[in-house]
Amino acid sequence: MKFCIETIGCQQNEYDAANLATFLKSNGFFESSPEESDRIFILACSVRQTAVDRIFGRVRNYQKAGKKVYITACVTDADKKKLKELGVVYFENFDQISEIFELPTTNYQLPTNLTSYIPIMTGCNNFCSYCIVPFTRGREKSRPIEEIISEAKNHTFHFSTAKLRSEKLEIILLGQNVNSYKIDQKTKIKNQNDKSKIQKEKTDFVKLLKEISKIDGDFQISFLSNHPKDVGDDLIEAIATLPKVKKEIHLPLQSGSDKILKAMNRPYTSQQYLDLVENCKLKIENLKITTDIIVGFPGETEEDFQQTVEVCKKVGFALGYINKYSPRHGTASYKLGDPISWAEKQRRWKILDELINKKIS
Ligand code: SF4
Repeated sequence: MKFCIETIGCQQNEYDAANLATFLKSNGFFESSPEESDRIFILACSVRQTAVDRIFGRVRNYQKAGKKVYITACVTDADKKKLKELGVVYFENFDQISEIFELPTTNYQLPTNLTSYIPIMTGCNNFCSYCIVPFTRGREKSRPIEEIISEAKNHTFHFSTAKLRSEKLEIILLGQNVNSYKIDQKTKIKNQNDKSKIQKEKTDFVKLLKEISKIDGDFQISFLSNHPKDVGDDLIEAIATLPKVKKEIHLPLQSGSDKILKAMNRPYTSQQYLDLVENCKLKIENLKITTDIIVGFPGETEEDFQQTVEVCKKVGFALGYINKYSPRHGTASYKLGDPISWAEKQRRWKILDELINKKIS
């Protein structure tokens, strides 16, 4: 059976797509072009309405061409219902795919790539007013540390035994807000009478970074995404001092205007953001900072936008993912409408893109 995977959205989806492809190929499927495939798998994204519209458009085109479509990842309940009515099969995990195609779930090999994505948590508790993620992915849930360490060890082992030894593996830890990673770790300790007892220990993101750093091998660790409100001195010190941790940090600014940050439910001011950046630069040598920014959020005046431009000039981002605001049904900011024209959003987008990504000031 020939299949094709279409990925829309974030690195989490890219990670899932790589694993899904390996899983299907391990079970006798052949990866091919969309034209030649009779089974199409879509890893969806609901962050922007344009992405959702694109998915529905693709589904209709594939169905017209007689292909069966399967969908997973970030889909709202309302869209799941609509897709089901169109005859699209929604699945959540490999077990469900195994059931649909009657496959053995265990027949699966880890892919050997230069980049290994490891999700450490799912969901988000932050409820930024424009974001649909807490509604599609649910609340924060951290994976057990043993599972993450074992997956990281598997990746480094597979990588070192494959023909890629001259290259360096990069492990990217994924989560909507990795700084919130938190888990109760159980360790066995022996008391004075040599009796074992189980002790509970809290593990946070910094501890997780330290544990992964201890794994043998020549590899790098990076992570996505952070929330500026949750980046503390301990994380800054870990990036500065752990040799395997890449000297870069993704710090989504979203806006440089305090008024807009408040409306976005981002609990920091532009000055607090700049103080954090200064602290990071002071302690981490040769640090690269990347960011996310939204232009055209409802109520963003030219003055608000210029404040964002000013913050960008002060920080000197290495890279920026700039998004034009797109209202998502079900989010808090949906009720604010979408008063800024597409042309104006495009103008603001271009200014920031030239400033940050093309370095034209
Ligand atoms: S922190 Fe990120 S994922 Fe969570 S609500 Fe805000 S934008 Fe969405």
